[in-house]
Amino acid sequence: MANIGLYIELKDGVLKKSNRELLSLARKSGQAVHAVLFCPDVQPYLEELKGIQTVIQVKGADLSYQPDRYARTLAAVIRDFKLEVFIGIFSAQGKDLFPRLAAKAKASLVNDCLAVDLDARKAVKPVYSGKLLAEYQVEAGTALFTVRPNVIAVEAITTTNAPEIKNAVMDSGELRTKIISVQKSASQKIDLTEAEIIVSGGRAMKAKENFAILEELAKVLNAGVGASRAAVDAGFATSDMQVGQTGKVVNPKLYIACGISGAIQHFVGMKTSKIIVAVNKDPEAPIFKKADYGIVGDLFTIVPLLKEEFKKVLS
Ligand SMILES: Cc1cc2nc3c(=O)[nH]c(=O)nc-3n(C[C@H](O)[C@H](O)[C@H](O)COP(=O)(O)OP(=O)(O)OC[C@H]3O[C@@H](n4cnc5c(N)ncnc54)[C@H](O)[C@@H]3O)c2cc1C
Repeated sequence: MANIGLYIELKDGVLKKSNRELLSLARKSGQAVHAVLFCPDVQPYLEELKGIQTVIQVKGADLSYQPDRYARTLAAVIRDFKLEVFIGIFSAQGKDLFPRLAAKAKASLVNDCLAVDLDARKAVKPVYSGKLLAEYQVEAGTALFTVRPNVIAVEAITTTNAPEIKNAVMDSGELRTKIISVQKSASQKIDLTEAEIIVSGGRAMKAKENFAILEELAKVLNAGVGASRAAVDAGFATSDMQVGQTGKVVNPKLYIACGISGAIQHFVGMKTSKIIVAVNKDPEAPIFKKADYGIVGDLFTIVPLLKEEFKKVLS
């Protein structure tokens, strides 16, 4: 039986939703699964971690995310617990951490996977801005995979088996790169990379204040609000809202693009959305070639109508 490791990402002490997807994938593998958490107390998370073999709790005076320390600590965990496969989320932190970890652990990394076979050490990932899907096989050494959020179905936990808790010590060595401060977004926004529904606005929003109509629709749908780069560059939206090649890669069940033309650089960030709805007043807009449903019309008329209709249906 192989040893599968799993990096559990916490955000403000809360287990990120995508961890449940990784846990479902790992539980199905039939291998021994070991979850690693950097936290002072694992008790609040144990309910979610049922059905795996071990919880490895990393302890230390300062557990704040510092990439050098996290990478060295995880490399030691991989060595000490003889982990042959190690997986994490393709999140902002995963993108920062896993390449460093691959270097420290002398492991092979396949990033941004859409499917992973943990037993066969194989993964499928998009290449050339999503034009092709490539299959990778890690032949030797430790295999690291990061998995795109929202691609793996979360399975209900059917076992009551509690994992055994083991400890690891946080590395306290030199920091070559130090995170000095983290600026949090003022509002409590839904994380776009994990959102199930996203309403996005483009240049056609015309002003920052006009994003309020997208926020109202998003509130009804419990959705996140995204933006095109043109909207961000014009100052209508903040950079953490940008979807696309130089923004976030999102993978919701429903993506509603309002006043967005459908440039390739935007499309690569949202093309794996399960359903794409486009609202655009130009019937020739390229987005209509990519959308599952298209509404030709002025977004300032359509979006409030959509909000009212969804409100009726969902109430
Ligand atoms: C290297 C590079 C990286 C890039 N990265 C990104 C990225 O990450 N994300 C990204 O989004 N872009 C990115 N871009 C920019 C990209 O090429 C496009 O310029 C951008 O996506 C266009 O944004 P838009 O669709 O909002 O604006 P536009 O292309 O101007 O489209 C606006 C659309 O709104 C429609 N419209 C106008 N008024 C209304 C109305 N009242 N109601 C309904 N529809 C209306 C118009 O018909 C039009 O289709 C990148 C470009 C480069 C070169």
